[in-house]
Amino acid sequence: SLTIGIVGLPNVGKSTLFNALTKNDVLAANYPFATIEPNIGVVGVPDARLARLAEVFGSQRVMPATVDFVDIAGIVRGASEGEGLGNKFLANIRESDAICQVIRAFHDENVVHVDGKVSPKSDIETIDTELMLADLQTIEKVLPRLQKEARVKKDKQPMVRAVEEAKAILEDGRTLFSAGIAQGTERAEPLHELHLLTVKPFLYVFNVDEDELTDEAFKAEQRALVAPAEAIFLNAKLEADLAELDEEEALELLQTVGQTEPGLATLAGVGFDTLGLQTYLTAGPKEARAWTIKKGATAPEAAGVIHTDFQKGFIKAEVISFDDLIDAGSVAEARSRGKARMEGKDYIMRDGDVVEFRFNV
Ligand code: GDP
Repeated sequence: SLTIGIVGLPNVGKSTLFNALTKNDVLAANYPFATIEPNIGVVGVPDARLARLAEVFGSQRVMPATVDFVDIAGIVRGASEGEGLGNKFLANIRESDAICQVIRAFHDENVVHVDGKVSPKSDIETIDTELMLADLQTIEKVLPRLQKEARVKKDKQPMVRAVEEAKAILEDGRTLFSAGIAQGTERAEPLHELHLLTVKPFLYVFNVDEDELTDEAFKAEQRALVAPAEAIFLNAKLEADLAELDEEEALELLQTVGQTEPGLATLAGVGFDTLGLQTYLTAGPKEARAWTIKKGATAPEAAGVIHTDFQKGFIKAEVISFDDLIDAGSVAEARSRGKARMEGKDYIMRDGDVVEFRFNV
């Protein structure tokens, strides 16, 4: 499955956040037989629709979609020079599908800042610079050979042009993602085999003081620093406390700081979206469940997420949109209102589809 790598300078609250992530582990609750790796935190994507579906179907439990976060220790200035930890760090980032930077905005005299002062802007620049330098090195290593090849093989020319363009963007101090050359888009396609880092989608977690959680002016300023990437604001220590509480107590604590859901839940939702994922829903007496698919997946591809046989033997999908189903109150009533659609193999799944697949075994 797709993973989000968590990176950040030392002492910004990564471990605190990651501990909260792993305590929140929905794997332990919902997938008792899964192996849980120490450096992976699996977080449920909050979806209020599941509880509603469970009511309609009398389901015993709900199974949210999940996002995997990987703890990538060890960014330091000079990581791109490939010394010791630096190499391992870059290899770990290469394996991630998105990069989540944790940025310190909290003030605490007892927690040393590596650069001596709290400055989100300069921390972001430090990390972005390491990643951009690593990409520039990759490019400089292959470009002369590519240029030579392209002189005889004309079909290599688009790739060379794309690599030269990427080089210019990086030299200009911009990540490829922020320049619109994001992994999965057509513009990033010719760069694929270089395994560059800054084509990956970025998201930013600002570890803020509690009073900054509701400071809209402050948050707007930070958002502007990282756009078009998404920004999430949370307090890592608070998240760690929340992870120890039951739902009701957690909500009470959140109210005291003007929040309605844990920052980790927000992070999971934004992370899921950043990875280019969406869900569809199924429900029955056993469970109401959100299944993860890529945005743009067809009905047979969606069926394949449940079981490869569902995809191979796919006949059609009976689809009711969540809102229609809730309005009707039952599948039978939705059918009699003409709200149940039979969709074939070319159907592109939509968010909120409640589905039952028909297939040959
Ligand atoms: P890491 O080096 O990025 O993994 O940072 P840690 O999670 O180990 O945190 C470094 C120090 O900062 C620890 O003493 C934490 O207790 C403290 N810390 C982490 N998050 C916060 C926060 O939100 N507010 C305050 N005041 N301290 C924090």
